Amino acid sequence: MFFLGQDFNFDSDFKVKLGFFHFSSCSGCQVAFLDMFEDLVEILDTVELAYSNMLTKKKDVPRLHIAFAEGALCIEDKRHLSLAKELAEKANIVVTVGGCASFGGIRRLSVGSQAPQPSHQSFIPLTEVELLKQKIKYAIPGCPPNPSLLYNFMIALLEVNEDFLQPFEFMANSKDACGFDVVKEVINKGLCVGCGTCVTACPSRAMNFNYHYNRPTFKPTLCVHCGSCLAACPQSFKPYPQPIYT
Ligand code: SF4
Ligand code: SF4
Ligand code: SF4
Repeated sequence: MFFLGQDFNFDSDFKVKLGFFHFSSCSGCQVAFLDMFEDLVEILDTVELAYSNMLTKKKDVPRLHIAFAEGALCIEDKRHLSLAKELAEKANIVVTVGGCASFGGIRRLSVGSQAPQPSHQSFIPLTEVELLKQKIKYAIPGCPPNPSLLYNFMIALLEVNEDFLQPFEFMANSKDACGFDVVKEVINKGLCVGCGTCVTACPSRAMNFNYHYNRPTFKPTLCVHCGSCLAACPQSFKPYPQPIYT
């Protein structure tokens, strides 16, 4: 049914082994991932969920073709350090899911010493962990990402649909994500069409809409750095419009 990319060897019994890793997070991204499984029924002959702290009993991490990971790494947590090592060793490709894993997300607002884990002070998005950088190919924005986005991403990954995957590859190399991305990449380039999609995509109301100017406005103090606004904008990931020379 699917064309599998060059990293995979295909035979008739072959299934793509998926895993889901949990770092410091609210688990909302994993819940969103599990929410799409209704849709995934149609490709269950192609994929197998081989590891998940929520859904599988396995303690040992098996070898995986694709590992999804949520949450930021806490550098004071020894379990996180060993989990990151396993992730680097056992997975062919790592996909970060959600703002915490991809850009720091709400963890960037952490002041440390908070209940219930006061020893946790410092968090790094997985995309910034040196050990994992080679393995992380894609970052999915959102807090949490929409399950249908996760499903479409999964299908694109299995079909190696590079056009669809390109923005996620771009996001894996973004240092941060915030509402200023929309200002910089869309509004300041004169590309905004005033559709308001970025406002509806924002989970924290950091993006609002100014009906007078027909443009979104951004309140930085409310931003949880999830990357949804840029990803949802239909005008993002476009170059500056160029003049036509006659
Ligand atoms: S990105 Fe949002 S939903 Fe996902 S783990 Fe972080 S806080 Fe939770
Ligand atoms: S402005 Fe909203 S949607 Fe955009 S990165 Fe911040 S929290 Fe996410
Ligand atoms: S989603 Fe993009 S085009 Fe639509 S209002 Fe926001 S910045 Fe403008």
